[in-house]
Amino acid sequence: MPENAIEVRALEKVYPAPRGGTPKRALKAIDLDVPQGSIFGLLGPNGAGKSTFINILAGLVVKTSGTVRIWGFDQDVNPRQSRASIGVVPQELNLDPFFTPFGALEVQAGLYGVPKRMRRSMEILERVGLGDKAHAYARTLSGGMRRRLLIAKALVHAPAVLVLDEPTAGVDIELRRMLWSFVRELNAAGTTVILTTHYLEEAEEMCDRIAIINHGEVVACEDKADLIGRLDARTLVLRVGEMPETLPDLGSDIRVQARNGHEIALTYSNGAASAPDLLAKAQAAGLDVADIATEEPDLEDVFLQLTEARESA
Ligand code: ADP
Repeated sequence: MPENAIEVRALEKVYPAPRGGTPKRALKAIDLDVPQGSIFGLLGPNGAGKSTFINILAGLVVKTSGTVRIWGFDQDVNPRQSRASIGVVPQELNLDPFFTPFGALEVQAGLYGVPKRMRRSMEILERVGLGDKAHAYARTLSGGMRRRLLIAKALVHAPAVLVLDEPTAGVDIELRRMLWSFVRELNAAGTTVILTTHYLEEAEEMCDRIAIINHGEVVACEDKADLIGRLDARTLVLRVGEMPETLPDLGSDIRVQARNGHEIALTYSNGAASAPDLLAKAQAAGLDVADIATEEPDLEDVFLQLTEARESA
């Protein structure tokens, strides 16, 4: 088994210029490794290049230059093997309304050249909880069922790597939980999973390694714990009896922000101050402090810091 499920080197994508426009450099010579066996999160603001990246892996977008290895197979040298090693669950819920789930899986298996005796359509449908809908028309399926069917389709050729593009966008909490536990099961059984998500709490809960893409560049790629540990920002939240008209100035390295009418958040760097000092300063500045709480940084803070820093650069 390869050490990395995916290895990407100097991957570049330039979309041709629209009439009267300039070409768009959507991926800027990126290097990225996805370790075998991981649940890998790909995060980034809209337009960062995530779909372009995934679509290149899936063979749906042609790269401009660079190399892509999937399960050790170079996309240019071994296109068949590299394609057979990956399954992609698209974002849109487009399904042919005249196919039944069983029929859709059989057609997909045919496209991937899975011989009849090797097919496991019914077993896969059972696994995603669609066993009793195997012969229903796709147009009668709910949104959640369609999403599960798309996952089932991506699994017909038993790919080593499964990519899910925004798997839980717009789904309710119950289905989200179900999808998460299903993804965990697949991962525990050996599938490497890559998911893109807008929901940072999803990445925080699901992923063991995370890459952040911004403006076509990888601005971070680390184990989740290291990524979150990178920020040494701390927040002390003061609940105040009365919100002052103007917020006190507690020094240039302390950010003071009012929240929801009765809380003031003081953000500071761990080395530069301590919560007891700050509390004393705040009280000396005349704040009527009724209660306090501290907050640790989370993935959202890291994400904002890494993506905003580039905006202003
Ligand atoms: P994300 O998935 O992170 O939102 P995309 O990969 O869709 O980002 O887009 C990256 C950049 O490439 C964006 O600026 C987008 O407008 C541009 N882009 C995406 N697809 C095309 C295309 N087919 N033609 C031209 N530009 C495109």
